[in-house]
Amino acid sequence: MYSDHANELKGFGIFPIAFFLLYRLKKCESFCVFKKFIVLSYFIVVSLSTCLYLIINNVKLLKSELVIKRMVAMPLEKNWLDQDKSYMEEAVRQAENAKQIGEVPIGAVLVKDGEIISKGYNLREQQQLSTAHAEIIVIEDACRKLGTWRLEDCVLYVTLEPCPMCAGAIVQARLKRVVFGATDPKGGCCGTIMNLLDEPRFNHSVLLSSGILEEECSLLLTEFFQDLRKRKKSLGN
Ligand SMILES: [Zn+2]
Repeated sequence: MYSDHANELKGFGIFPIAFFLLYRLKKCESFCVFKKFIVLSYFIVVSLSTCLYLIINNVKLLKSELVIKRMVAMPLEKNWLDQDKSYMEEAVRQAENAKQIGEVPIGAVLVKDGEIISKGYNLREQQQLSTAHAEIIVIEDACRKLGTWRLEDCVLYVTLEPCPMCAGAIVQARLKRVVFGATDPKGGCCGTIMNLLDEPRFNHSVLLSSGILEEECSLLLTEFFQDLRKRKKSLGN
């Protein structure tokens, strides 16, 4: 999709040639006024259409380059991967803390400039609060610690794909990037059901990576719900 701008700009070379020919024509006494008018019109039409073609072509090119820049934004930061795993391991430890107190095991970590600013886990049952998701807990904690609601340079690591409420909070907090482990087919709003983190009608979009330590994150949840079902069954008997 890339093309050479210099080659296209060479097309503008037609203008000095046209002006030179027109200048010679003006001095030529053998041409009548009508003939001069025809030649002049021809050059004007050719020059204008060339100009229009070049403008349209360059606008198309600019648009395609913007799309490419957006597409390559992720691979440019490939060194993220090792760091991502290490921060996600901490998020998994947070999820294990949640499991130990009977909460759905979801953990999150918020990182700024390579430093963990806040970490936490789901506390919905403990607090009997529908908004006490791991992501909301770490975002609120980071805002308090950093003294700002803008978390523009921060990256959020969470073991499960954020729900619509948390995805909304992530956009509102202007987070730079979100990394999640397991996808959530019943509530995930970062690519599974919809993607609120990259909605062009919003005033902010968030970079997204998924599938980091997916198996560990997913296994924690599967085991938790299996145990829960077993306990419920044994209570029923
Ligand atoms: Zn949530």
